[in-house]
Amino acid sequence: MTAPVVIIGAGPAGIAAAGVLVEAGIRPVLIDEAPKAGGQIFRQPQPDLLRPPKQLYGFDAARAIANFNAAASLESEIDYLPNTQVWGAAHGMLHVVNADKAFVQPWSSLIIASGAMDRICPVKGWTAPGVYSLGGAQVALKADASLIGRRVLFAGTGPLLYLVAYQYALAGARVVAVLETGRPRSAWRHLPSLMSGKATFVRGLYYMAALRARGIAIHQGVELVEVMRGADEKVAALSFRHGRRDAILSCNALAIGHGLKAESQIADLIGAEFSFDAGQRQWLPRADLDGRSTIPNVYLAGDGMSVRGSDVAELTGRIAASALLVDAGYAAHPRLSRDRRLVERSARFRRGLDKAFVYPHAQAASLPDEVTVCRCEELTAGAIRQAVLASGETEINRIKAFCRVGMGRCQGRICGPVTAELIAVTGGVPIESVGRIRAQAPLKPVPLSELAKGLS
Ligand SMILES: Cc1cc2nc3c(=O)[nH]c(=O)nc-3n(C[C@H](O)[C@H](O)[C@H](O)COP(=O)(O)OP(=O)(O)OC[C@H]3O[C@@H](n4cnc5c(N)ncnc54)[C@H](O)[C@@H]3O)c2cc1C
Repeated sequence: MTAPVVIIGAGPAGIAAAGVLVEAGIRPVLIDEAPKAGGQIFRQPQPDLLRPPKQLYGFDAARAIANFNAAASLESEIDYLPNTQVWGAAHGMLHVVNADKAFVQPWSSLIIASGAMDRICPVKGWTAPGVYSLGGAQVALKADASLIGRRVLFAGTGPLLYLVAYQYALAGARVVAVLETGRPRSAWRHLPSLMSGKATFVRGLYYMAALRARGIAIHQGVELVEVMRGADEKVAALSFRHGRRDAILSCNALAIGHGLKAESQIADLIGAEFSFDAGQRQWLPRADLDGRSTIPNVYLAGDGMSVRGSDVAELTGRIAASALLVDAGYAAHPRLSRDRRLVERSARFRRGLDKAFVYPHAQAASLPDEVTVCRCEELTAGAIRQAVLASGETEINRIKAFCRVGMGRCQGRICGPVTAELIAVTGGVPIESVGRIRAQAPLKPVPLSELAKGLS
């Protein structure tokens, strides 16, 4: 019996890919570590915390419902494995674990639609209790109907910054302010590209206007300086620089995020080639226009291939599944040409977003020596600089070997981007020559007791 086609990720990309395969008469296995389909944008609440879609997903409510209906209609036509995490991968097999057992899932073809995660530039004191990633703050709201605090400050960059602040304001939090890092004057130069995003661009403006209408201050072009703790050791305030002015805002929770980074470790474990994307300032698995990776029978889709948002995720999910069909001798999906055109058309908007919401790399590279960068191994910016200076090395995996940066539970998924910036500037080399932290299994922490169940 030949192994099945496997899709990793039940977000917009994975669901769209599954739909195309089912239409062609193929029964794929769909794996997702989340309990329900929807991915990040359409993350579903806990069963006892259900709320109306309009309240949960705002302007995206209709799309969320369509996505859930699509997932529900596929359930009898696919082998859906929710609550199941892929922690290792090799050619033809995935190592997976769920609450019942650990097992090896074979595949004949694989579509990786594993989405994205927060990218954060640390700031002095960011490890204080009460500091969350922007995405984490949104997960608390969507999945758990919880706020991360009552007086919440939002800081960073990227479209999610304004969206999550707006969602918190609607949910009853006191949003202290929104502090956007970066340089707004250069951002306006990219207005024509941003306007090509039409409805998405207008929504961004709406969130900003709605925040201002509630009296919430928005400061753009700020530099974050330090998270300050109260007597209880929790976050109590954030100091920042705005032009020549130094300011402090008090809060009891802080959400920080500087855009997203592709969850590309599975492609890495399987041996796919990567290239450095200067626009997104991150390493991405290489793929042709239809999502074929550099490994035969391995396809990429959605934010895990390149961070381009949920509309493009859905399109690239369908395109990757169509490429798989063609390679297996089936006819291409009838919407292929249209989907390709739509992806092409979205490129201008994406370039505008990449330029308007830039990762604060200069700030990352100039972090004070005492700032913690790698939380798992408790390593500071100074320790990483010292490892570069003492060894004379500038390749990130070499530096990892010297000082253990990125060797802990997060596997460099959080500290990797800032470590690369620190190495590049300390070693005086271009960022792309630093490379990326190679993925290692287990990709995420897996309890040994769960793995042991697979052996018994
Ligand atoms: C925290 C967060 C919140 C976001 N919120 C919004 C929002 O509100 N609005 C918006 O427009 N965009 C949002 N985005 C952007 C969002 O990523 C895209 O809009 C869209 O969801 C991308 O679709 P996708 O199918 O590529 O990936 P996703 O929707 O991210 O789906 C990927 C799926 O893969 C699963 N997965 C990943 N790794 C593994 C693994 N190892 N094993 C098993 N399963 C795995 C995940 O559980 C997830 O369900 C958010 C992104 C993040 C990171």
